[in-house]
Formats: sequence, structure tokens, C-alpha cells
Amino acid sequence: MDQSRRDRVEAWFRYTDELGLGPYYRDRAAIQDAYIAAVSASGTRLEASLRAAEPAPQAVAAAATPRRSQTQSPVHNAAQKATAAHSVIQASTGASLFDERIEGDTLDLIRDAIGGNCTRCKLHKARTKIVYGVGNPKAELVFVGEGPGHDEDIQGEPFVGRAGKLLTQMIEAMGLCREDVYICNVVKCRPPENRLPEKDEITTCSPFLMRQLAAIQPKVICALGSCASQTMLQTTQGISRFRGEWFDFRGSKLIATYHPAYLLRNPAAKGEVWKDLQKVMAVLGLKAKRK
Ligand code: URA
Repeated sequence: MDQSRRDRVEAWFRYTDELGLGPYYRDRAAIQDAYIAAVSASGTRLEASLRAAEPAPQAVAAAATPRRSQTQSPVHNAAQKATAAHSVIQASTGASLFDERIEGDTLDLIRDAIGGNCTRCKLHKARTKIVYGVGNPKAELVFVGEGPGHDEDIQGEPFVGRAGKLLTQMIEAMGLCREDVYICNVVKCRPPENRLPEKDEITTCSPFLMRQLAAIQPKVICALGSCASQTMLQTTQGISRFRGEWFDFRGSKLIATYHPAYLLRNPAAKGEVWKDLQKVMAVLGLKAKRK
């Protein structure tokens, strides 16, 4: 690289670091991974970092400090420390920081953008209905699943099969009903034989999920299962390592819990999920439904 270009690139890095944007331009997934690794290694709870934007715990901040030059100016170091303290709880996703935020976006516009006969990925070949999402466009709580199953594919509505019935019970146990919340999936078309959505399908479809979340701006997002949580947190770590922790996701609080389909296979895990839902209820000021 010639010197003048190098100077311009370095000036740009200094500028973005001083603005606190540095970590978004390098190693974004790695930062998130480092954070999750630190959380699961130290058992540190994120609630503390979310409280009044306190700096994240030291171990976490250290693990998440971006890898860069060892010889940095005090300004650079201060900016980086401040950035690290915040970025460790930022679940940034997408090609750029701002790309999915569209001024005046609405769920109807997003549905129109997806279209009635989307063929952007191979899932269109076997699907019956596109499953956009359902519920309150102003919901304080959004549940995000993986992708439609057989029943959802037929009815065009998310979480209406066996796992969906369990999700409905979970919502009602929280003192809410389905109409109070918004429910959607990472991919909008059913993967054949209920296989996991593949990377290219997630990459193609998840920008619509990001737009849905940006349009609703819920207080809390509850990611159901690995696919939803790994997609939003941009990590490959197993869900059991960060389930029940709070993350800051583009202005919403995000918590991951086990998928209801997993609970159908492992009812013993229901207690863990209930603990996670109680954390959500505490944030939203909800009281459990009386039996
Ligand atoms: N599982 C999901 O992840 N989503 C649905 O809509 C139904 C089952």
C-alpha cells in the first residue's frame, strides 16, 4: 500500500476509534465471541453491566478489548477502553452498523419488501406459505424463533404447532397473550424436513428480521434456541454458554433461552427457561399469571 493511502487509512482508524466505532470495523464477531467466552468462563452476569450503563466487568472488558497495536496514544487508549466497556454488550450484526435501519420502516413495508412470492433463497422451492410474523407491531416483547415448521408452513403463522402451543403457554404464564407480543423467525420459509436453516438462507433472510426488530423497537427480544440467538449475537458459541444473560441489541435488551421444541424433548429444562422468562418479566414489570 502506498504511503498516502496508508496515512489515509490510519487517519480513518484513528477517527473511528475516537468516535467509539472502532470495534464495528474490525473483529465484530470476535468481540462478541470474546464477551460470551468471558461470561461463561467467569460466570459473570451481564445485568450488572446493563445497569445504568456501568462499565462491563473487568474480566469481560479485558477479554473483549480489540486486538490492535500495542503502542497507542493515551487518547486512543482512553477511547478504546470506553469503547470496549460498551462494545462488550453490543450485539452488532449486519454488514454495517446502520444498514438495516430504514427511516419510517413499518412491518407492512417489510412484508411488501419480502413480497408474496419470494425466491431469494432455495427455501422457496418447498414452502407452502411465507411466514412473516404475527402480533403487536408495538410490542415491548418480541420472540424470535428459527424458521417455520410443518404447521406454520401450512397456516402462514409462526409457532402454531406443538412447539408453538408451548410458547403460547409460556407467554400466558408471563401474564400476557399472543396478541401482546410479536413472534417471528430468522427465516420466513420452512426448511425441508425441519432441518436447520443453512448459512446462505440465514444470510439472505435475516436482514428482514433485523428490519422487523428495528421497526418494532421492543424493550426485550427473547431469542428462542441456537439459530435465533447465534444469528442475532453473531456467534457460533453454544446457547448453553450464554443463555439467561442480557445483551444489548441495537437499543433492545436481548436474552436467549431454549427453544420450545427443545423443551418438548427435554422437559427438565423448563425450569431454566422459566428463570429466563422471569428475568424478562422483571424488566417489563410483568406479574406471573395466577393458576
Ligand atoms: N419453530 C420455530 O422456530 N418457529 C416456528 O415458527 C415454529 C417452530
